[in-house]
Amino acid sequence: MITLRKLIFLALICPVISLHACRQPVTQTGGKLRILTTIAPLYSFAKNVAGDEAIVDNLIPSGVGPHEYSLSPGDARKVSETRILIINGVKLEAWLNKLQGPASESPTNDNKKLIIVDTSAGVELIGNDPHIWLSPRNAIMQVKNIRDALVKVDPDNSETYTKNSSEYIQRLGNLDKEIRNEIRTWKQNRIVTYHPAFKYFAGEYGLELAVVIQETPEIEPSPKHIAHVIETIKSKGIRAIFTEPQFSHKIVTSLAGDLNLQVYSLDTLETGLFSKEWYEDSIRSNLQVLKKALN
Ligand SMILES: [Zn+2]
Repeated sequence: MITLRKLIFLALICPVISLHACRQPVTQTGGKLRILTTIAPLYSFAKNVAGDEAIVDNLIPSGVGPHEYSLSPGDARKVSETRILIINGVKLEAWLNKLQGPASESPTNDNKKLIIVDTSAGVELIGNDPHIWLSPRNAIMQVKNIRDALVKVDPDNSETYTKNSSEYIQRLGNLDKEIRNEIRTWKQNRIVTYHPAFKYFAGEYGLELAVVIQETPEIEPSPKHIAHVIETIKSKGIRAIFTEPQFSHKIVTSLAGDLNLQVYSLDTLETGLFSKEWYEDSIRSNLQVLKKALN
């Protein structure tokens, strides 16, 4: 069990006594800034902005989703060793509250040891839907928030961060255009997904999210809602249904069988690989899947 008290000890007390006897301050390694992200898209964003000037790690291991994540004892150490914690926001990382307590009371903030960057700042939200990263337009805003934080915390490398981020933003802008130009040529624009993750993507690029099977992450759909899903699929003449690569959902298989639908898999990017290119590659893979289904 991670207690706030333990974290206070790790993040506050240790660096103080480290002047004499404790180990070296750990928020920097070899003079490099340490950055911790929560989910794989944020890792790609931070890695592209930081380049070689900072050490970027991701908190949630590959293969684990963020909605119902629970912190492990090792996570407290990872957070205590980082200077910047980059989060998605929109309550995606509600489980972090167990670790740090309310920001205003957090000693790690008061002593300027830990800076938490909420990358959703400035993003136009759809209700309380956290899946902002699935639209590259929003990703650009998240990258800008990361850039601003890095420039502020590590001004010595501000030129590199600014240059790296403008190159990456350019690439994300190209990705945005590519999706737009592609989707507008398609015959169909209606999609049905299992996970309620694609509102931002659909809204941005003119797809119609006809119905979502699981309306709230981690909560199984009710029989009443399933009846509504079936009715919508029939009345709108939908031929394809989208699930995720990491999961197979019984309900999707049975709906597809009953209604003679093709099942495709669309990545929510909630878990993945930790690399610079992974975000762009994954969005492009989704685009190809959608193209196959809708064109
Ligand atoms: Zn989700």
